[in-house]
Amino acid sequence: MASYSIWVMEYAHVLEQATSLFVYGAHNQGYRKMPYGYVVLKGQGQTAMIDVGYNHQAYGEVLATSYGVRNWQPPQAVLAECGVSPAEVSSIFITHAHFDHMGNIEQFPNATFYIQERELSKWVWALSLERRFRWLMLGMDPADIMKAVDLARQGRLVCVDGARDNVLPGIDLHAAFDTHTWGSMYVHVRNDLRAQSSDSWVFAGDLAYSHENLRGTDPKDPQYIPVGLATGSQFNLIMAAEEMVKKAGGDPHRVIPVHEDRLQYLFPSRVTKAGLRITEIALADGEASRVR
Ligand SMILES: [Zn+2]
Repeated sequence: MASYSIWVMEYAHVLEQATSLFVYGAHNQGYRKMPYGYVVLKGQGQTAMIDVGYNHQAYGEVLATSYGVRNWQPPQAVLAECGVSPAEVSSIFITHAHFDHMGNIEQFPNATFYIQERELSKWVWALSLERRFRWLMLGMDPADIMKAVDLARQGRLVCVDGARDNVLPGIDLHAAFDTHTWGSMYVHVRNDLRAQSSDSWVFAGDLAYSHENLRGTDPKDPQYIPVGLATGSQFNLIMAAEEMVKKAGGDPHRVIPVHEDRLQYLFPSRVTKAGLRITEIALADGEASRVR
């Protein structure tokens, strides 16, 4: 009996993203589709999200255009496909501060946001560096940092330092420092509150972009391979992959990367009229499927 319904909601995509971004060292291995998405969790009288996407205007649009992002849809339209409105979302866990994850704070007026303290403070430091360090700012919209600070002013920001258990019943936050970013965070959902650990899901943020990061390319001989973009180290990414798989009960299929287009082969899903996919990871008791 699942405690939360869980959907991965695609809100935009890049049709041809170099495989070398997904998988460290995968040069000359062509291109693949990269969905941009966030996760909706509904149950226990709560609606929560993991990340919020970006807003296709101002510098968010500039970044998106430079990365070849297409078919952006606002959260109001995307969330309606699973019967949720942005206003009802009360808790949001930000895995990291890249624009495609934290760039739409303003669309969720009633939510409290959770982020690692180190993620915010190190981006402020990176912003203060001289121009020759600008590679460190890849994928970052400085306005998102300002908006996060404003959330703090409003009493709607929780800065987490490391792990925090049961931020909502059965939902734990975990830090993976100096990996994809300085203060990346992943989310562990223990989805059967009465039989702990039997129904665990881990939402990886960008600690994994694709299946290969968690199981390699040879099903008979699995291995961890880091993502192709990191301000931290490949070593830390690999150790984070091991931690996530362990928290998922040893099953890499239960560690979910939202940028992986092939989730559709593991879970029921459908494509909306707007051309975006909804993937149904779990259904709480009494909840109707949104993909059948
Ligand atoms: Zn991302």
